[in-house]
Amino acid sequence: MWKKVYQTFNHLPDVEKDKFIRALERDKTSIKSDIAKFISNIRETRFSEGLGCVHCGSTAVVRHGKYRGRQRYKCKDCFKTFNDMTNTPIGGTHKPHLWLQYIELMVEGYTLPKIVKRLNIHISTAFYWRHKVLNAVRSIGDSVLQGVIESDETYLLESMKGSKHISHRKSRKRGGVAPERGISKSQVSILVAMDRNGNIISRKNGYGRTTASEIESVLGDFIDSSSILCTDTATNYKKFAKLKKLPHETINARKGIYVRKHIYHIQHVNSYHNQLKRWLDRFQGVSTRWLDNYLYWFRFLQLNKKLPFEEQINSLLLGCCRGSNYATIEELRAA
Ligand SMILES: [Zn+2]
Repeated sequence: MWKKVYQTFNHLPDVEKDKFIRALERDKTSIKSDIAKFISNIRETRFSEGLGCVHCGSTAVVRHGKYRGRQRYKCKDCFKTFNDMTNTPIGGTHKPHLWLQYIELMVEGYTLPKIVKRLNIHISTAFYWRHKVLNAVRSIGDSVLQGVIESDETYLLESMKGSKHISHRKSRKRGGVAPERGISKSQVSILVAMDRNGNIISRKNGYGRTTASEIESVLGDFIDSSSILCTDTATNYKKFAKLKKLPHETINARKGIYVRKHIYHIQHVNSYHNQLKRWLDRFQGVSTRWLDNYLYWFRFLQLNKKLPFEEQINSLLLGCCRGSNYATIEELRAA
């Protein structure tokens, strides 16, 4: 590949050769300064409350020389060393410049084969990086919904994509149809709930028709007690509302009622379902095992879609670094 380019290069007049070399140098320095900016952003976000040890939380941290051009720190309490990226998805990689491009492609929602082609990395690396980022984003967790809360489920066909053994049923061709009519145990339920301030919860919540206790396990801790729940007329939600002692507005679409009192409806949630399914189509079946990661990915894109592209990248980057740091602190608190 490069030899072809080199041959063409050799045929250029000297002036053009000079221009070409200068352009290459410019690209190289701009990649370097992008990476420097990227690392300093991560540092400021992770240590926004002051420099602390990423292993034990101690603030007795000193600078400890440089390794591979990166600042290292040492903790005087646990004696461990770390750098700005330790314990983030980017920590330990020798290819930070690829990471930057990788995050960009994630904001654009690229599929793995496309990423492999663009970045010339192995598909298993691309897969591993994706879930490293998504696990970190997921570990930030959900925020509490308040006020008018719309909630409803949508269903996807269960997918064992990527699993070698399918024991409980015959394997099905990609995009196949469910064996039974209506909602069956071969369908995965996705619960989406959102308030009118733009907070969204979107999680996998079991197989077949959703039960009140499944709703409770996904939403239970994330609903402010002064909220008003807005759903269809399904009994699972009636039970759930009663359990949480929430005022409950039900929408009976079968009777042609879509909005009540000009304000209570579930149209935001239903439109979210449609967009989510359309977005998931590109992956040609997402393994049920990884579904939550994809749901958090889509949620991230939705929450940030009004930001300029550069800021979306930054937000994903910092989100995934902040997330892993947060998880470490949580683990410490639990210990
Ligand atoms: Zn420490």
